[in-house]
Parts: sequence; structure tokens; C-alpha cells
Amino acid sequence: MNCPECGAPEILCKPRFDEFLVLEFTDAGYGVVHHLTVAAYMLQHSSKLTREGWLHMRGLLREFLVENKPPAFIRRQNRDLVDSGKRKFKIASKDGVPIINKSAWMKTILDVRTGNAEVYCEDVTAWAKSVLEEAELIAI
Ligand SMILES: [Zn+2]
Repeated sequence: MNCPECGAPEILCKPRFDEFLVLEFTDAGYGVVHHLTVAAYMLQHSSKLTREGWLHMRGLLREFLVENKPPAFIRRQNRDLVDSGKRKFKIASKDGVPIINKSAWMKTILDVRTGNAEVYCEDVTAWAKSVLEEAELIAI
């Protein structure tokens, strides 16, 4: 069975995401794209988010990729995402129902190679750009 949200075969996206988070937290060379990995994965798996959370995530991804916000800004955003006390809305969905209706994407997390930090960062960035491109066409 394919993932009903990103379309990855045999729902391999979830273990791959968990594996990537470990990689990013243990190796700084991989960790530089952590914000992109999380935003791209979450946008493709909208059942984990509220509508406001999804829109917020899409806005962040645009700021990271299109507006090229500096790393300090990104770190602050990451912190705010974790610290729910600063937010006026909930990010995480309680009902687990997808808020977008899309199950086929040009790229998924399975398109990311992990051989070394350089190709990893390159592929995560390409995946995130492709997700943003498609997510911006979705009206919710
Ligand atoms: Zn998936």
C-alpha cells in the first residue's frame, strides 16, 4: 500500500523521516536543512496539522526558500514552532484527518539520497522546493 498522503510506496516515508531526524540531530552537516525536512514532510502529511498549522508551515517554507531568510530567523521560527505558548493557534491536528486532498507529489522524502551531507542537503532542498511549488497551488 502506498502512503495515502505523499504516495510513497509501502508507506516508507514515515521510517525514512524518523531516520532523517536522527541523522540531522547527530551530524551538523545534515542538520543544516532540518527546517526544510520538517516543513516539507509536514506539508505532504497534512493529517498531522491543523488548517492554520498547514498554512503556517507553507508560509515558513516560502520564507526559507524564496525569501532566503537568514539562519537566525529560521532558528527563531523553529523555536517558536516548538514553543506553543507563543502561538495563537494549534499546529498539530487532533483528529488526524488530512486537511488537503492530494496523494501524488512530484517528489517525496524517498527521493533524498543520504550518501554524504552535500548530496543530502541538495536533495532535501530540491524536495522542499518541489513541495512548496505544488503546495502553493492548493487552495484551502
Ligand atoms: Zn507519506
